[in-house]
Amino acid sequence: MFSPSGQKIIEVAKDCLFPIFCLDCGKEGEWICPDCFGKMDLRGVFCCPVCHRPNGSGTCCAICQPQSCLDKAMAIAVYQEENSVGRLIKALKYNYAEDALAAFAKMIDGFLIHQLGVLSEVDLIVPVPLHRRRLVERGFNQARLLADILGQKIGRPVVEWLQRERYTMQQAKLSREERRANVHQAFANGDFKADAVLLADDVFTTGATMQECARVLKSSGVKKVIGFSVARG
Ligand SMILES: [Zn+2]
Ligand SMILES: [Zn+2]
Repeated sequence: MFSPSGQKIIEVAKDCLFPIFCLDCGKEGEWICPDCFGKMDLRGVFCCPVCHRPNGSGTCCAICQPQSCLDKAMAIAVYQEENSVGRLIKALKYNYAEDALAAFAKMIDGFLIHQLGVLSEVDLIVPVPLHRRRLVERGFNQARLLADILGQKIGRPVVEWLQRERYTMQQAKLSREERRANVHQAFANGDFKADAVLLADDVFTTGATMQECARVLKSSGVKKVIGFSVARG
């Protein structure tokens, strides 16, 4: 380990070599500067996971329930490619900046202050898995990193319960379309016990991936699956 002063020197050197700039206003120092962070709306986005209608709790509406394995869907903020949340997610995925993770940790704190107790029913957190090939290319699963932060904040374990289907010999026999659908299939990776699982991802757009993961969790005996994403498109 480095001494505190040694650590400081490394920090300073890192800042000189790789300066970071606020993704919103461009000021040097942090991915999201305190001023811009203060302007972020972290009260949460709560919409039906199927029809996307806002409803205050994220619960799946009765009429949509037959089409949904997710019982609820919640996000911290609205996703836009060109808003600070969108840029932060891009920074995390393509640069793997630890500092970007620190900004997400602050966002999670802000959300949990606004929505105190909203995750109290959760037994454990399961990150949405990345396809194995993607994992090799990228080197990390951003959903796992976010799940770890969330797990620390709410004091729940994080378990990699799911995996994406790997390429198999049988895949070779499938058409291109079938293959694409098959690649997205998730499967359970071991046996775990939980009544309520929080399924964590960076962005929720159509919800197709989360629904697929929720389907597998439900068929493994989970009673309730809550989708949680940093941003919702
Ligand atoms: Zn700023
Ligand atoms: Zn609905």
